[in-house]
Amino acid sequence: MSFKIIKNSKPSIGVVGAGPAGAMAAYLLASEGYSVTLFERRKEVERKVCGEYLCPEGVRLLRELNLLDKLCEGFSELQGMVLVSPTDVVIPSYFPKKANVNAENGLSLNRKTFDQNILKLAVDHGAKLLKDKTIVSAHQTSVGSWEILDTNQDKYDFDLLIVADGRQSKIGHSLGHLKAVDTKRAAIHCYLSRKTDRGLRLGEMHILKDNGYCGLDPISDDEVNFSIVCDSKKLKKETPVSIINSAISNSKRLSAMFDLLDGKKSNDIKIVSSLKNKNLFIAGNNLAYVGDAAGFIDPLTGEGIYNALLSSRLLATNILSSSNLEIALANYKKQKKKLSFQKNLLNHFFQFLIRKPLLVNLTARYLKKSPERADQFIGIIGNVHSPVVGFIKMLAA
Ligand SMILES: Cc1cc2nc3c(=O)[nH]c(=O)nc-3n(C[C@H](O)[C@H](O)[C@H](O)COP(=O)(O)OP(=O)(O)OC[C@H]3O[C@@H](n4cnc5c(N)ncnc54)[C@H](O)[C@@H]3O)c2cc1C
Repeated sequence: MSFKIIKNSKPSIGVVGAGPAGAMAAYLLASEGYSVTLFERRKEVERKVCGEYLCPEGVRLLRELNLLDKLCEGFSELQGMVLVSPTDVVIPSYFPKKANVNAENGLSLNRKTFDQNILKLAVDHGAKLLKDKTIVSAHQTSVGSWEILDTNQDKYDFDLLIVADGRQSKIGHSLGHLKAVDTKRAAIHCYLSRKTDRGLRLGEMHILKDNGYCGLDPISDDEVNFSIVCDSKKLKKETPVSIINSAISNSKRLSAMFDLLDGKKSNDIKIVSSLKNKNLFIAGNNLAYVGDAAGFIDPLTGEGIYNALLSSRLLATNILSSSNLEIALANYKKQKKKLSFQKNLLNHFFQFLIRKPLLVNLTARYLKKSPERADQFIGIIGNVHSPVVGFIKMLAA
């Protein structure tokens, strides 16, 4: 494979996908004078299926980039999470504060506004946005640049291709960089209004009796972002409304909060599957993946947005600090793999745990005994601690 040698000039950059990962990469590189073209298949930004929770470390990252006010104005803080076991053990927990500086809470976002804000930032700083452009293939030319093709057969050529087309990455699959999509799990998503007072600004994570879980994010007084992740097989036997209703009626806490859904009003419920992908390539050959396209496990720990922003920041920092693109990409790949390693292990552990109700209940009782222990536990989920540090703190509490 030959590489294009880029000397004394900034590589031209094509970014496929204008979600948080693509838009953030476009902003960071365009604002440093790179010529960046951003391709987005949608005509307008939509409110994506997402728990809309930004973890404390994501908030800290945006503050560090001086972007928190610009991107998150008007969103409410989340102070922690209520964890609920299958036997209704309820554990309120708060994001642990680090000894002195940079203590952050999480945020309840509106994904449409948030994604629009990052995109605007990228465009205001010089990125060229091509909307309604679906990229269907990419191939490397003999001089090492990347040629991409859209559905109208229009071709575009770039020195560097950044792939940010989400967890089902079309480019990743067409280049053979992504393992086959795993469709064993599906998410059912809707917005519900609470019948009780809003109470504290806490998200909720309910582990259900049947290997599934349910996440709640109180976006506003009348809007709770509600999602259930379950085995896809369940959707062959039951309707989404009946799955939501049985989660509500089987839980004292959920039934105190929500009325059962009316089957006739089921049109606002969305279902997404393919909740897992593994990228075996990440970066090299004048190409880099960021965000979900670089790997996605399961929304259980709610850190996809943070990962999207962080991966783009890591990539941009490496590109900006090295005059050799291949070295920059190799460094990015190494750092990204290192970051994912502990988190992947943790996610696999959690996925194992939620399939064992007895263990979940034992863990719930263990956490319930000490509020500090529970706080350290959600500190891991909020990325306040790395998994190893978090577990040590939890055991010490
Ligand atoms: C049910 C569920 C709940 C979740 N809850 C949370 C949560 O609470 N907190 C959290 O942090 N994360 C959550 N996530 C994960 C989060 O939504 C993602 O990690 C995040 O959106 C990743 O950003 P991204 O930019 O990589 O991808 P995306 O946001 O998916 O953006 C990809 C963009 O690429 C565009 N695109 C795709 N293909 C093409 C193409 N061929 N050509 C051009 N454009 C293309 C798409 O239109 C899209 O705009 C959740 C995910 C799911 C499924």
